[in-house]
Amino acid sequence: VTAWLAELAWLGGEGLASDVVIACDGAGRLVRVAPGQAAPADAVRLRGVVLPGLANVHSHAFHRALRGRVQSGAADFWRWRDRMYALAAVLDPDGLFELARAVYAEMALAGMTVVGEFHYLHHRPGGGPYADPNAMGRALVDAAAEVGIRLTLLDACYLRGGFGGEPLAGVQERFGDGDAEGWATRVAGLAAPVDPGATRDHQGDAAGAGSGRGGVDGQPPAGWRLGAAVHSVRAVDVPSMRVVADWAARNAAPLHLHLSEQPAENEQALAATGCTPARLAGDAGALGPRTAAVHATHLAGDDITLLCETGTAVCLCPTTERDLGDGVGPADRLAAAGCPLSLGSDSHAVIDLFEEARLVELHRRLVRHERGAHDAPALLGAATAGGYRALGWSEGGELVLGALADFVVVDHRSVRLAGLDPARGAAALVYGASAADVSDVVVGGRTVVRDGEHVGLPDVAAALDRSIRSLGERL
Ligand SMILES: [Zn+2]
Repeated sequence: VTAWLAELAWLGGEGLASDVVIACDGAGRLVRVAPGQAAPADAVRLRGVVLPGLANVHSHAFHRALRGRVQSGAADFWRWRDRMYALAAVLDPDGLFELARAVYAEMALAGMTVVGEFHYLHHRPGGGPYADPNAMGRALVDAAAEVGIRLTLLDACYLRGGFGGEPLAGVQERFGDGDAEGWATRVAGLAAPVDPGATRDHQGDAAGAGSGRGGVDGQPPAGWRLGAAVHSVRAVDVPSMRVVADWAARNAAPLHLHLSEQPAENEQALAATGCTPARLAGDAGALGPRTAAVHATHLAGDDITLLCETGTAVCLCPTTERDLGDGVGPADRLAAAGCPLSLGSDSHAVIDLFEEARLVELHRRLVRHERGAHDAPALLGAATAGGYRALGWSEGGELVLGALADFVVVDHRSVRLAGLDPARGAAALVYGASAADVSDVVVGGRTVVRDGEHVGLPDVAAALDRSIRSLGERL
């Protein structure tokens, strides 16, 4: 048993508890969460506010290389996508591994203990498979393992260029598996057990910079799980969506899809089929309690009712949605209708889940000219338990007995949080904290970040810099 004594902790609700003893067993599960208790003599003291680990539900790790390169200047979503595609065209498994490892380490520093990687960059440029057809997916699995955070690999089916059945062209050829059965066959190989002691070997090469594979402190990795994704209703027809949905149901796996991020998707769906994207997904059996619809910005008609009646969750990505000019989704109406919400940093223009959480409420204030649709505990819940559930780790995201021992420490003595009132601690965290206030991160009982430093990758900024610069002028 490992024990900690948290100076303050968020256990749900508006306020914070004091002097909370937290202990976990050798399996990385919480066996004690006790406020106001005397700590065991060997307890590690945590100076700050402890809260459950943050769940980044929607990530495309490689988009991080575009930060600062695509934000400035006028261009719509589709022009941004051209720039993103130029980057997608040049990544190979080793390059993706290097970049993703640094990006996941940036996430760990920001307090993220689990990430959902929405992965569609599957094959060689031109579309042929690597020797291991899942070399790119395994690069992501290895990257998360090396920096000690949990991963749900949401392997995306991507089959066509649009509603007219246009064939994949250019860089999109890397995304496709031919048909949904091809997707399922490839994914079956990925689901095979991975030996955590195996040498990393993405392309038949000797292991490269992936030294120390096996996770932080040489311990077993935090673990990864497999989920399914439908890239979007643009990229996957209804019968193929049904194949993916059936696979997810058979495997009790999460199923994610981009939904109504752009008005053009709705217009094209309506013109081609007479249905909204949500209705198409529903007709394919792709909505349900294990499904998370990402963005859900431009819902129309009875889409909200459809999502809520099927128990579908929604993952909001406000910093990306504002960066791309997507719009502001109806998070308030979704929440009021009982839709479970979660959060993702998506394009990684920003990696800060406190920022994502507060923007859910703040964007709504700008649109509706009123305050208070989402209270602070609900927003923190979306950043923690809501995200864990959406990623298929429903045993995590809360500081309760039996839960995964995943938690973070936020330094409330920073200039941003100084003066915090513990009775209103949840609001202070949501509206005052930033990723830079995270001092310590524990995943499965193991310390991944200590005093603001990643334990396994001491200079995360240098790793990011090296990886992004290596992509060179293609950016
Ligand atoms: Zn996305």
